[in-house]
Amino acid sequence: MAFHDVMERSARGELIILDGAIGTEIRRRGGDTGRSDLAVIHMLESPGLIREIHADYINAGADVITANTYDCNRHALILDRLDGDSAQYLTRMAVELAIDARNSSGVEGVLVAGSLGPLASDYDPNDVPPFETCLSDYREQVQVMVEAGVDFVLAETAAQERSARAGVVAASEAGLPVWASLLAGPDGTVASGASWGEAVETLVSAGAAAVLINCTMPDAITLSMNELGRQNQAPVGAYGQGALPAGHGWRFEPSMTPDEYAKHAQDWVDLGARIIGGCCATTPEHIRYLRSEVTLA
Ligand SMILES: [Zn+2]
Repeated sequence: MAFHDVMERSARGELIILDGAIGTEIRRRGGDTGRSDLAVIHMLESPGLIREIHADYINAGADVITANTYDCNRHALILDRLDGDSAQYLTRMAVELAIDARNSSGVEGVLVAGSLGPLASDYDPNDVPPFETCLSDYREQVQVMVEAGVDFVLAETAAQERSARAGVVAASEAGLPVWASLLAGPDGTVASGASWGEAVETLVSAGAAAVLINCTMPDAITLSMNELGRQNQAPVGAYGQGALPAGHGWRFEPSMTPDEYAKHAQDWVDLGARIIGGCCATTPEHIRYLRSEVTLA
């Protein structure tokens, strides 16, 4: 199934289910070597584990799996004292693992998204680099994503509209469809303080085919979905955190149960979300519950 088929399903009122976490899932499965917090480093050491995680999300019912390219931009690599010049190699490897998992799954119609993550490690909107800096890093990754064959691009975990817009522009220039996903703040706005109406206007006019919220606690997503869910310029959705961060190194408290998480996702759908999935601390079991328990009214 191609990207536009999935968007047509959404237009007909069907739900699109995304996958869940990769980084926290590597840790849960014992793949954390302690050398780095970047999921991409664990991919180098155990590519089979990444392929297995993708396969488990497909078997759980995900319509979309996201390649492990989140950390593979030049700035994020350098920030973790890694070689910025490995951005292209790592992006290609991550996309190839996801496509391999999809093609070996025997499940028809699963899309592979290429993730564009933040350049700065912090979620502080004040730390987001200028638009042109983000655009330059994202162009480098998107070029590889085109060659390696992703179905579309997911510019995600953006604390500012400008970094998401840079991802949207980089993908659009390269001819790839793109969704944009922002962090929500605690008060029903984007983390930057902008309204969801403003953010959707900015991102859709730059070429985004959907606007989402991710890496945010479910209650805060619900608060924001009150406004995001009313926007009608593009499909909207959310994939939230399945637990609270605990201490350093992106560790999490024990996860909320798949059933509890699915109840939050049902609230988002009731408010207008048509694309749902999981972010940090969610597992294939959470995705299975989204597929089986969340329904359109
Ligand atoms: Zn997350």
